[in-house]
Amino acid sequence: SGSGVNEIRSTFIDYFAGHGHEPVHSSPLVPRNDPTLMFTNAGMVQFKNVFTGLETRATPRAVTAQKCVRAGGKHNDLDNVGYTARHHTFFEMLGNFSFGDYFKERAIELAWNLVVGEFGLARDRLLVTVYHEDEEAASLWRRIAGLPDERIIRIATSDNFWAMGDTGPCGPCSEIFYDHGPEVAGGPPGSPDEDGDRFIEIWNLVFMQFEQLPGGKRVPLPRPSIDTGMGLERVAAVLQGVHNNYDIDLFRALIRASEEVTGVRAEGPNTASHRIIADHLRASSFLIADGVLPSNEGRGYVLRRIMRRGMRHARLLGAREPLMYRLVPTLVREMGQAYPELVRAEALISETLRLEETRFRRTLDRGLTLLDEASSGLTPGASLDGETAFRLYDTYGFPLDLTQDALKARGVGVDLAGFDAAMERQRAEARAAWSGSGEAATETVWFVLKERLGATEFLGYETEQAEGVVS
Ligand code: ATP
Ligand code: MG
Ligand code: MG
Ligand code: MG
Repeated sequence: SGSGVNEIRSTFIDYFAGHGHEPVHSSPLVPRNDPTLMFTNAGMVQFKNVFTGLETRATPRAVTAQKCVRAGGKHNDLDNVGYTARHHTFFEMLGNFSFGDYFKERAIELAWNLVVGEFGLARDRLLVTVYHEDEEAASLWRRIAGLPDERIIRIATSDNFWAMGDTGPCGPCSEIFYDHGPEVAGGPPGSPDEDGDRFIEIWNLVFMQFEQLPGGKRVPLPRPSIDTGMGLERVAAVLQGVHNNYDIDLFRALIRASEEVTGVRAEGPNTASHRIIADHLRASSFLIADGVLPSNEGRGYVLRRIMRRGMRHARLLGAREPLMYRLVPTLVREMGQAYPELVRAEALISETLRLEETRFRRTLDRGLTLLDEASSGLTPGASLDGETAFRLYDTYGFPLDLTQDALKARGVGVDLAGFDAAMERQRAEARAAWSGSGEAATETVWFVLKERLGATEFLGYETEQAEGVVS
């Protein structure tokens, strides 16, 4: 077995299958029967009802490679992408699960043996965190892994205490970190500069030990459970001897394709754009394969935001024609074997990307020009006025976070209260126009369509057929 992403995924699954775990397929990115959750964001999501006892499974142990998206909702890593070495919007979480079967000791043993045995990671590069009250975990790490006390870090925050919700299963976690070495900036977990990329969290072991009852009482679970999550791309970086997730085999292939299509090398300031394009291509493609289509609300709007952010970066690299859709074959080649849904949906993915890129291109350039003009005098710490941010949103189809992302490099923000006020005023005006015009039917249809289809389509309509009719 080699250290490409596809081999690492198999090694993980085979290892736990060899230890009595049932290999279970990734569940879709759109959670079944859970309208409260935007996207599947962890391996345990498909097993929620098993952990709460609502469902039982024939086998008490499972292993998965789970597709995850963390963009929108509680976990949102969208703003980290391109700026940290370790965050993606779409990533794969490898996990082993015990449903009331083995617990802490066996979980730590299995994890340690995989990391230093199968994967062969250097012991002196590894450190772990435990919840500050979890002496049991600390002593298990000392005994099983032989880790010295200074590499068993006690953390008192919620980072090391997991809870499913306000009530339900919960418990301490213990995380394994890899030290990429002093040439990378950042401090160990729990230190003031822990957000750097030197000490990378590769694996989170959750010990579901308690049940949180309504009213604040916490009682021990009769049969505690295990839920773990290891970031495939992060462990691949370690195994491939690179310090950045975007330098692993899979991302190198995607970025190479992006370099070819744009004719721009991934160097200097262009590196971030290539990385963002590669990341957003994966997220968009997997979301489309799981049935999400771009729209102006809910999940579809998160997809649209991701796609349009990617397109802005393609534009930054000089692309004047739709680009992202041309990278789909490379993605399918790299990941289609592990995820056949990508192969099945390839045509839909390409077509959806191409259509969205074609539509947004009509307004992207003009919006960027407006943005440049409106923000040219702004210095770091200043904010773009909410009126302009709203116009970009409403007339040019710029999601708010795209505008924020565009200004971020210069340290300029957006006046959010002003943005909300402009949005509210437009709604109020539309309602007033509707009640006063005597042409209720047309006005209503116009407003509803505008909200549904979004600004881009309307500007297209406006410029092609009725210049200047709409504000
Ligand atoms: P971080 O602190 O680095 O943001 P996390 O604590 O939010 O990570 P967990 O919720 O514990 O992450 O998820 C389990 C594992 O999934 C992490 O240890 C990490 O390896 C991986 N992971 C989490 N978020 C991402 C992401 N956005 N991109 C890639 N891998 C991730
Ligand atoms: Mg996180
Ligand atoms: Mg963390
Ligand atoms: Mg974590």
